[in-house]
Amino acid sequence: MSEETIFSLILDNKIPCHKIYEDNLVLAFLDINPFSPGHTLVIPKEKASTLDKLSDDSAAAIGRVLPRISNAILKVVGAKEFNIIQNNGINAFQTVFHVHFHIIPKFDDGRGLQYPFKSSPINHDEATIMADRLSKLLSN
Ligand code: 5GP
Repeated sequence: MSEETIFSLILDNKIPCHKIYEDNLVLAFLDINPFSPGHTLVIPKEKASTLDKLSDDSAAAIGRVLPRISNAILKVVGAKEFNIIQNNGINAFQTVFHVHFHIIPKFDDGRGLQYPFKSSPINHDEATIMADRLSKLLSN
C-alpha cells in the first residue's frame, strides 16, 4: 500500500482530470503538464507506489490496455511515434508515488520527450475536446 497521492484524489473523484479510459483496474487521463499534446498517464487503481510492488493482476490489466490507448492517442493527435516512460523512485525522476505509465506522443517537429525534459501546462479547453475524442475511440 502506498500513501495517499494526488492520483488517489483523482481516483476518488475528489479532483478532476481529463479521463480518457477506465476499467475495473485501470484509469487513464491526460497529464496536467504535458511534454506534447496527448501526453497521457495510465495508472492502476491499486495503490502501489512503484512498479515492483504492483500485483500481477494490475500489471496485466495495464499491459493489456497500453497498446490500445497508445493507438487511440496517435490517431487523435496525428503522431506516428511515441515514448512510454515509467519512473520508480525520487532519483529515477518519480514525483507522484502511485504507479503510472506516461504515453508521450513524439511529433516530426520535435515535440515530445526530449532532454532536458520540457513541458508546458495543459490547455483545458483543448484537453476537454481531446479527452472526449479519445474516450469515444476507446469505448468502441
Ligand atoms: P513522474 O515524474 O512521477 O513520473 O510523473 C508525474 C506526472 O504526473 C507529471 O508528468 C505531472 O505533470 C503529472 N501530474 C501531477 N499532478 C497531476 C494532476 O493533478 N493531474 C494530472 N492530470 N497530472 C498530474
